Amino acid sequence: MGESNNGMRVIVMFGPPGAGKGTQAQKLQEEFGYLHISTGDILREAVEKKTPVGLKAKKCMDKGELVPDDVIIPIVKDKLERSINVPGFLFDGFPRTIPQAEMLDKVLSEMGTAIGRVIYLNTTAKIIVKRLSGRRTCEKCGKIYHMVTLPPKIDGKCDECNGRVILRDDDSEETIIRRLKVYEQQTAAILKYFKKKGILLEVDGALPVKDSYEIIRANLIQEKV
Ligand code: ADP
Repeated sequence: MGESNNGMRVIVMFGPPGAGKGTQAQKLQEEFGYLHISTGDILREAVEKKTPVGLKAKKCMDKGELVPDDVIIPIVKDKLERSINVPGFLFDGFPRTIPQAEMLDKVLSEMGTAIGRVIYLNTTAKIIVKRLSGRRTCEKCGKIYHMVTLPPKIDGKCDECNGRVILRDDDSEETIIRRLKVYEQQTAAILKYFKKKGILLEVDGALPVKDSYEIIRANLIQEKV
């Protein structure tokens, strides 16, 4: 690992909802020990606890819209500034807009590091709708399951923490379609922003989980970004 990044590695998972960002991030966290920062999980926790942020965020999330930048940016900034002594960060679901990307670059640079790699998991709308409507999530720890391909050992109970495994409010078909539209509206600009930096790794999100993971893992091990 080079001196320039202060020994701390920063990886961003990018791609449409349902492309497998969260699943791959969980695996990377287990193997590499990087701190997984999922803005979706942070917001869902705020909704669950009915905090002021949660109450504001819920309306947007249920509709499949983005939570405003002035709500999400301070949360991430605070989280970053409080995280010391971690080997790296793994962003999942952030940044999603140009102001978010600019804030991230600024805070990371103040910390003496920068985004080393953006893993762009891409797949088709058809696969996304199929995956998300079967997806189930542990409401306590956020672990991801699938009714057909990866059910929990005991129906409705998380294998890891015994929490309730539920259908997320925004995984209904109508909201999935809206989330995809919102994603498409934001993508072009963000992709261009990352491409210009030469840090993008595109991975086929339609591959089986372990195959996408092997590609990502090999890239991260070979290239000390
Ligand atoms: P997915 O990637 O499958 O859409 P997430 O769990 O990342 O799921 O996000 C769920 C919802 O949380 C989004 O639809 C959006 O409303 C909100 N959200 C998450 N991250 C952000 C972000 N960086 N900016 C704005 N809203 C966000």
